[in-house]
Amino acid sequence: MATVASSLANDVAVKATKLLINNRWVDSHSGRTFATINPATGEEICQVAEADEPDVDLAVKAARQAFHSKSAWRRMSAAERGRLLNKLADLIEKNAEELARLESLDNGKPVAVARAADLPLTIACYRYYAGWADKIQGRTIPIAGDYFCYTRLEPVGVVGQIIPWNFPLLMQAWKLGPALAAGNTVVLKPAEQTPLTALRVGELLLEAGFPEGVVNILPGFGPTAGAAIAKHMDVDKVAFTGSTEVGHLIMENAARTNLKRVTLELGGKSPNIVFNDADLDQAIEGAHFALFFNQGQCCCAGSRLFVESKVYDEFVDKSVARAKRRTVGDPFDASTEQGPQVDQAQFDKVMSYIDAGKQEGAKLLCGGGRVGDRGYFVAPTVFADVSDGMKIAQEEIFGPVMSIIKFRDLDEVVERANTTMYGLAAAVWTRDIGKAHAVANTVRAGTVWVNCYDVFDAAAPFGGFKQSGIGRELGEYGLQQYTEVKTVTVKM
Ligand code: NAD
Ligand code: MG
Repeated sequence: MATVASSLANDVAVKATKLLINNRWVDSHSGRTFATINPATGEEICQVAEADEPDVDLAVKAARQAFHSKSAWRRMSAAERGRLLNKLADLIEKNAEELARLESLDNGKPVAVARAADLPLTIACYRYYAGWADKIQGRTIPIAGDYFCYTRLEPVGVVGQIIPWNFPLLMQAWKLGPALAAGNTVVLKPAEQTPLTALRVGELLLEAGFPEGVVNILPGFGPTAGAAIAKHMDVDKVAFTGSTEVGHLIMENAARTNLKRVTLELGGKSPNIVFNDADLDQAIEGAHFALFFNQGQCCCAGSRLFVESKVYDEFVDKSVARAKRRTVGDPFDASTEQGPQVDQAQFDKVMSYIDAGKQEGAKLLCGGGRVGDRGYFVAPTVFADVSDGMKIAQEEIFGPVMSIIKFRDLDEVVERANTTMYGLAAAVWTRDIGKAHAVANTVRAGTVWVNCYDVFDAAAPFGGFKQSGIGRELGEYGLQQYTEVKTVTVKM
């Protein structure tokens, strides 16, 4: 395991730090700013304008104006909306290296990962929804009587979008792509930990030529700017990704105000199930990736790793060896697999779960502490002999902490896999196609991976059962959540 290098090279120029409202870069109404931090060093990168209620109000007005304006947006041809989204994708591609470095600087993820995963997935998402823009169509319906009945799929209206810090660019694409393709206008709040790439994309939106007010970007904090979006009487829908706890607040605010539509993509505690008959080396590498990818900061992390009893010991030994080989350090070093956690709060949270694991009697086999003496680096950590009721097996850790649990047979493991409040993702590793489908059909999760993990594509829907969320993102299902169905009936 490498120690944290001191270079932490960042010749990344920060260009956009203000609020984007109605196609203009403005200071916040209060004049307040806040610091965004480089998690590899704990040092401030720059100050960013801090939005609050009055700024949200201005942005919603701009978005409303843009939604209704005759010339600008809703009346623009659908093909033209698609062309603008494609242009945005092209501009992101043209600036991909700069964006990857900025993402790495602000979030702490290895720049090699940002280049290989975040950027290509972001670009593909915009292109996928660009293709949909002129293919959003209703039906003609043969109702009884002498009538002509058809449906139109109309945009919902002004959409508030609140995104997290773990995949800032990608979560922005998952939100903006379908919303804009369907003709909505947007007020988007990036996470306070990682506002910089969202704002840089704001510059690219202007360069692409999106009309005034169509996309407004407001960095700020959750209980202020975020809550103002969720409570706003003139926001027609709110789409949120983040913690289940805040998901409850978003719904509450929607319920208390104007019953705005709510879609939520929340936490998870996803079961990753390895049978005796799996290709063990593939399963070990897959389970390592499933848990440690993105510093463990994935809503769908395979954080309850169930391994069948016969291969349990070998699986644990090899997983520990793999975790010990994981390179932790400078996100700008090309060989780094794991950077820092996003901030002090997440670092402290992960550490408290490691303490809980030790206290509840799980066996700590590697890691467990900090790496280096600055920044928020956590050593890849593996616990074995974890039982279902332990905190580390029940609650979302969002860090590089693997919990390996033993099981005996298929029926038992599916029942145990389903015993949480979450239902975001699951995976199964086996050479037996019958077992694979038995798990896929009975596990209560929005996504099931068989002999793979974290395979994402803009065309494949993603989202949660139970308290992992409401609605789906990506694919055609993702698009549906940004349209209202209107039924038109004409007497013939
Ligand atoms: P969070 O849910 O507080 O923040 C996510 C987003 O919601 C941010 O933009 C934040 O500003 C905003 N927000 C916070 N409070 C709000 C409110 N009252 N009203 C409206 N918006 C609000 O998440 P966090 O505090 O950054 O992380 C806490 C935990 O959440 C993590 O440890 C992890 O378990 C989970 N998480 C999940 C995801 C995911 O992808 N599902 C992403 C980030 C965090
Ligand atoms: Mg930051």
